[in-house]
Amino acid sequence: MKSEPDREKEQVNTPSASSTRLKKRERAAEQDAAISGRALGRMVDAFMRLPGIGRKSAERLAFSVLGMPKGEAEGIAQAILDLKNNSRNCPRCNNITEDELCSICRDPRRDAGLICVVEEPSNILVLEKTGMFRGTYHALLGALSPLDGIGPEDLAISGLMERLRGGGVKEVIIATNPTVKGETTAHYLSRIIKPLGISVTRIAYGLPVGGDIEYADENTVQRALAGRREM
Ligand SMILES: [Zn+2]
Repeated sequence: MKSEPDREKEQVNTPSASSTRLKKRERAAEQDAAISGRALGRMVDAFMRLPGIGRKSAERLAFSVLGMPKGEAEGIAQAILDLKNNSRNCPRCNNITEDELCSICRDPRRDAGLICVVEEPSNILVLEKTGMFRGTYHALLGALSPLDGIGPEDLAISGLMERLRGGGVKEVIIATNPTVKGETTAHYLSRIIKPLGISVTRIAYGLPVGGDIEYADENTVQRALAGRREM
């Protein structure tokens, strides 16, 4: 059964959208608990906290966990704890790692003269799946959003500038999302990086404007990377 994830229309973080989502979650958990027990209600509540998971999906997942052998369910619970306990951001690029530096920063075959800037560490995973980028990354851990009060100091921009000032970087490819926030961020970075004499290119998206790199298929991302342009 292939169904669209019942995503909550991506209304992002406006206070009213998140409070509507909270109310929906509480109501679903309460109703399901009244019918199928408190533990099931709690599981539905837990799944609904995840992005792209609405009530129907949460209920399907909760019943699926219930139907699993105990060991398998324990494995999922342990995987969540291990992820939270052992994974952190790479101190150089903010990719996710369990080691001192991430696997990409540690790899001597990667071209350190090429840095691809993304919003989130999860975007690195998407770009790596294309197998065509041999440089390194820098995840900003967000995007500029003046309306939400998110400025350059709230992102991992100083770390990026430090890397650039360290020398040896020839090109920065900006692969922020093709959204208003992503474009704002791209232009800001271009403005502060170019004076360092480093080439700044913007990834070309074969995506609808307002889309998210996270949901793009690998071919689209591959084309986008190949079609990057000077900023
Ligand atoms: Zn790294």
